[in-house]
Order: sequence, then structure tokens, then C-alpha cells
Amino acid sequence: MAHVLAEELARTLRVAHLLGLVSLLGHASVRVGPEKILVSPGRAPGSPPPNRLRADDVLSVTLDGRVLEGGYPAPRDLVVHLAIYRARPEVGAVLHTHQPEMLAFGLVERELLPLAHQGADLIQSPLPRFGSGELVTTQVQADALAQTMGAAAACHLPGHGFLVVGTGLAEALCRAQQLEEQARMTRLAISIGQAKTVNRSQADRIAGQRAGMEDFRTYYAAIDPGPAPAPPPTPTADTGAGVKELVARSCHLLCRFGVVRHLEHVSHRLPVCQGTGRPEPDRFVISPRGDLGQVRAEEVATVDMAGNWVDGPLEPPPFRFLHRDIFRARPDVRAIVHTHETYGRLYPAAGLAIPPVHRTGALVVRQPLPVYDVPDLIFDQEPRQAVLTLLGDGPIVHERAHGTDYVAATIEEATAAAIHREWIAELYHRAAQLGAPRALSDAALKGLPREGPAASLWWDYWLGL
Ligand SMILES: [Zn+2]
Ligand SMILES: [Zn+2]
Repeated sequence: MAHVLAEELARTLRVAHLLGLVSLLGHASVRVGPEKILVSPGRAPGSPPPNRLRADDVLSVTLDGRVLEGGYPAPRDLVVHLAIYRARPEVGAVLHTHQPEMLAFGLVERELLPLAHQGADLIQSPLPRFGSGELVTTQVQADALAQTMGAAAACHLPGHGFLVVGTGLAEALCRAQQLEEQARMTRLAISIGQAKTVNRSQADRIAGQRAGMEDFRTYYAAIDPGPAPAPPPTPTADTGAGVKELVARSCHLLCRFGVVRHLEHVSHRLPVCQGTGRPEPDRFVISPRGDLGQVRAEEVATVDMAGNWVDGPLEPPPFRFLHRDIFRARPDVRAIVHTHETYGRLYPAAGLAIPPVHRTGALVVRQPLPVYDVPDLIFDQEPRQAVLTLLGDGPIVHERAHGTDYVAATIEEATAAAIHREWIAELYHRAAQLGAPRALSDAALKGLPREGPAASLWWDYWLGL
């Protein structure tokens, strides 16, 4: 029984991932008896993300939070699942998602419209909201959340995610999917300006006619992609070959998320010479021009601190001189990511900040964003010096109408900052079309640096997509 449910739990998260309802973030649980649940693992090095989850990875936990079985840590907000099971005997499964359409509605005081027949019964009353982006980790907070949620099928966790419950896993997943579609349709209906909705008696009648969950269970099993394989191990940055491979992989990830294509660059300082303890004679590597989605490690060029092309089959771009200047001025910087993004250029062009509305990306957009306000390619000495001065000791500098430079001690951090800044900007933009998005509370912002997940976990997750 427990193993069958562990299989279904793993499958539920894999399918939720396939449907775009969870990412690296998101977890699920199922009740297996009066005092016991199964829950997916939390984020930790080596712990499988939702798309790689297998039944064997699932933890078994008592309703008072004691882990009975499991090789990975429980989710940090396990208490949320436990509080809901304790308060609601009818609930058999809890799904915690980060579904993008619902995230936008969670940020604003705007209700979903029942526009599609399936799931119209779930939103006849406004969905409850709890918190402003804080991670719920204490029993007191979790009990307050369960009380706020009452008998609702779902609850917004503004600035964080979404909770959906069901009598079983298939119902929770089905509800998450239906609500995501209702949210998408509501956003589009708002742009049209008018729409007829499904009223309560129509919604109840439709819900009463619906086929049982077995049908959905069969469907989800049919579309289950199975556990994705783990990505190849990340090379270390202590050899030249490793550094070139890291740069190539960063380009692939940035391209996948649409912030680089062809004319952007990623660079990395070469390591200290093995054995001698002496630094390499002041060199770094930089990606070439070309399809950055397919760049290979052997195509990455080496450049010295005079800006000379030392090796690599393709001449490195003239932007290398700015990278050279940054490496010279900032001994703490080992990696630089330069992007041409959409939302991340749009807001500075409008003179507007991107507020920290979600846990993911909040720490990046919360940093002051120095802007070089002259559209330029930053090749010549004067604009390079101006950009360098604006960067100062910070992690980011923006060039209006051009792009953004992210600098960090590791390439994982610089890459994650670039991807997350664009992600949160796009979320903010969608939410701002619906209302006035609220930023995270100070308490939520304060907890973020220690609550992670670390950039290296995002990197591993993205490489496994
Ligand atoms: Zn979450
Ligand atoms: Zn550029």
C-alpha cells in the first residue's frame, strides 16, 4: 500500500513538473494511515528535484513530524502538510506548487473568475491567502495557515507559492491544473475587458456530473515522463578544461531561459596553476560569438590581461576588454555573465525598479541597480571605465537598452542571478497587469539568504532539464 502510494506520489510530482506547476521548488505528500504520511524530499545537495523523483526517494513521516524512513531531509515547510492533515480528516493529499499563473494572482488583490467549466466550483468563493513570502517552518505558523485555509481546496502563499489539497493525489493535481487554467483565462479575460462566468449552481451541477478521479489517475500515468536522468557532474573550476566546460554550460542554461542567444558573453577567471601555487599568468576564458545554446568547451577562448587572444578557434568578442577590466579591478570576481534580456531591460528603460515580489530572485532585484544610461556597445575605454565605476563593489551593473552584467565568486551564482532576475521581472510584469503586486515582507527578505536554495542546486536542476 505504502509503496503504491510512494510510486503515485513520485509520479504526481513528475507530472506536475511536466505541466509546469512545480520547478526545482514544490513538494507533495499523501496520507497513508491515521498517523503517517509520505512526503517528497526537500532541497539539499543530491536530493532529487520533482522531475527526477522516484518512489524510493520518498520519506515516511509521522503526523508529529518524526521521520521514520528516508535518505534525504524533509521539506523545510513540512509543518504545513502536517498541520493540514491534523486539521482536516477529509484531506488525503497536499500539493505545494509554484505554478506561474497562480503566483501572479497571489501577489494582487484580485480574484479568479470561473471561466472554464472544470474547476469552476473551486473558485466560487475567493481563495484564502496566507503570509507575505515567509517560509512557514513553525507549528504555530502552520496551524495559523491551516486555520486561514479553512475548508478551501487551495490557498495562495503570496510571494512564495500555492497549496492545493484533495482526497487523494490525483484530485490535488487535477485541481492545481484546473486552477492554473482558470487563472490563465482570467488574466486573458481582463485584457479583453469582459467575460461570462460559470455561476455557483452551474459549477455544482458540472462538479456532480464529473467522472471520478480514476480517469485522471489513468491520464496522469499515461503522460508521466518517468524520472529524468541526473545531469553530468559539474566540473570543478580548478582546471582550465573545467573552467571552459563551466562557461559552455552557463551559456546553454542562459540560452534556454532566453537571456542570451548570440552576442552575449560569459567569462571566467582561470585557476591558480596546479602544483606551483602561482596564479596563471593573469588569464581568463570567454565564450565566443555564435549559437550560445550549443557552444562547446573547446570553442571557449583564452584571453590575457592585455586583452590578447591566447587560444581557442574563434576570436573572442571586443566586449572582452570590459571583462578584462572587471577581473583586474575585482579580485573577488571569478565569473561574469553578460545578458540581453527582455523584462530586465524593459523596467530600467522605464526608469522603474523591479520590486522583490517573490522569494526566487528577490535578493537579486533588491540590490541597487546602477545604470549606465547611454545605449552603447561598451567597447571603448571611456564607457568601460564608466561601467566599471558604476559596478563598484556590487554584483550587478546595467547598460540601458543594451544588457546587464552579473559578477560573482562562482559561475553558478552569476548564472542563477541572471536567470532569476528575468524570471521575477516577468512575474512582476504579469502581476502588475492584474493589480498592485505586494513585495515580500521584511521578515521574508531577511530569511532568504539562509533559506536558499543555493545557486548550485538551481544549476544542477537546470542542467537536468
Ligand atoms: Zn515553495
Ligand atoms: Zn551585450
